[in-house]
Amino acid sequence: MRFSPEVSKEEVMALSMWMTWKCAVVDIPFGGGKGGVVVDTRDLSAGELERLSRVFAASIADVIGENKDVPAPDMYTNQQVMAWMLDEYRRVSGNNSLAVFTGKPLEMGGSEGRTEATGLGGVYVLEEMAKTVGFSPAKTRIAIQGMGNVGYYFAKLAKEAGYRVVALSDSKGGVYNGEGLDIEGVMAYKEEKGSLEGCKSGRQITNDELLELEVEVLVPAAVESVIRLDNAEKIKAKYIVEMANGPVDPQADDILWSREIVSIPDVLANAGGVTVSYFEWKQNVDNEKWSGREVYEKLEAIMKSSFAAVWQTSREYKIDLRTAAYILAVKRVVEQMK
Ligand code: NAD
Repeated sequence: MRFSPEVSKEEVMALSMWMTWKCAVVDIPFGGGKGGVVVDTRDLSAGELERLSRVFAASIADVIGENKDVPAPDMYTNQQVMAWMLDEYRRVSGNNSLAVFTGKPLEMGGSEGRTEATGLGGVYVLEEMAKTVGFSPAKTRIAIQGMGNVGYYFAKLAKEAGYRVVALSDSKGGVYNGEGLDIEGVMAYKEEKGSLEGCKSGRQITNDELLELEVEVLVPAAVESVIRLDNAEKIKAKYIVEMANGPVDPQADDILWSREIVSIPDVLANAGGVTVSYFEWKQNVDNEKWSGREVYEKLEAIMKSSFAAVWQTSREYKIDLRTAAYILAVKRVVEQMK
């Protein structure tokens, strides 16, 4: 479920398609879907956001359900929004299942680990790539665009794993510090002031500058189409971890490939979110409660084995990781359809 002024029917269709391939790449028994509302949540009061969430949930009540379509949070939606939606769904449908929405608060049937799942899944994939190609965390500088749910947890957990996170940004711009950023400090500043403008943790940079920084790993974790024909030649990172959906345009993809820049595709890199959404759904359906450790171990196993399968396919056919991921995903979907 995405709430954003940029939502369009075409965007929702594209996001649904990616969701299909993503679930197939990590081999979980979900299909693809997406929902969106054209709105800038920053203009809404808490009451307005609640009423919007409830009305939307009521209006889609017929097309969602434990065994139909199971929403989860995305841009500008969160646990609170999921809680309002589930509550409204139960009221209008009379169905009390908890498994209709995921990304819920723990008190309402949410899963341990769901909040950080997408960022954590991305870090597991990064670790596996580091092991495969042989780079060491301490010598690896990372620039991250976007510091919402995905970007923030990726930054925090990558730092904990020993990487040097040198740049972070939000929609208005970012900060850069070659020595490594104090992630919690930058986040606290953003929470207090509403943006990174004036943040003293590092030098102020624009989002365009962030993408072109001299780093080993670039992590677009905000919006679509930020690496395009016009800036693909200027990217200096050797590796890209696509935590946003669709951050690299198809023409840019060809340029990156010819420049031997390795891009871990969105359908693999950010699949940790839907994987733990599946865990949440399964716990709700089976009336179980897994520990945080159990969730982390299961997520790690899935992300690392999915990376290995995609990597192996790319070596086998001498192709980029996105095409390799699609080969695996399309094959699984076709087998199901047959
Ligand atoms: P969020 O709403 O929590 O955060 C979005 C962040 O992006 C904010 O920091 C915002 O300031 C920043 N941003 C917005 N527009 C920007 C721009 N033009 N340039 C730079 N920064 C900008 O959203 P999120 O859940 O972190 O999602 C981020 C991306 O990750 C999206 O592409 C989303 O589809 C994808 N994703 C999210 C999940 C999930 O579980 N939340 C799972 C898979 C993929």
